[in-house]
Amino acid sequence: MTKYDKRTLERLIEGKLVWDELKPIISGRKDADRFDRIMEILQERVPWKEKILLPLHEHLYVVSKGGQRIVKCDCGHEFGDYRENWKTKCRVRVRDTIEDIEELYPKYMGSDPEWEEIREYYCPDCLTLLDVECTPPGYPTVFNFLPDIETFYEKWLGRPPPDKK
Ligand SMILES: [Zn+2]
Repeated sequence: MTKYDKRTLERLIEGKLVWDELKPIISGRKDADRFDRIMEILQERVPWKEKILLPLHEHLYVVSKGGQRIVKCDCGHEFGDYRENWKTKCRVRVRDTIEDIEELYPKYMGSDPEWEEIREYYCPDCLTLLDVECTPPGYPTVFNFLPDIETFYEKWLGRPPPDKK
């Protein structure tokens, strides 16, 4: 089984691998310790100490803090309980006019704001764009992903989550 060095995994996370390096990694079997090595790298990169339980989204992690599981941005902003939709605690820009949409798309190439709005979700602290969703106007905020942390650790990794040891 191929082992990739730390620098290669760091460049994988950063999206800096060229196709010839990337293809064997994504098409091959994962190293058994890949998750732990990726988590180690992610934990080293964040400026805070809370244990990362799972990467949730680009820039966002589920972390263990004071017996709770919360969503935290890599800047340190805390979005609260991971079972709640972090997007509802973001700064949101809604693009729902032709002028707003034409900032993104050439004329006549974007969506019709009568039928679709584009919502941009920003971290309230670092103002990083965390996600974009396109929905019919008035549609509820989409909850992207609720991880089953127990099942992931116990059934896939064969051990309890780090906050339940
Ligand atoms: Zn942030």
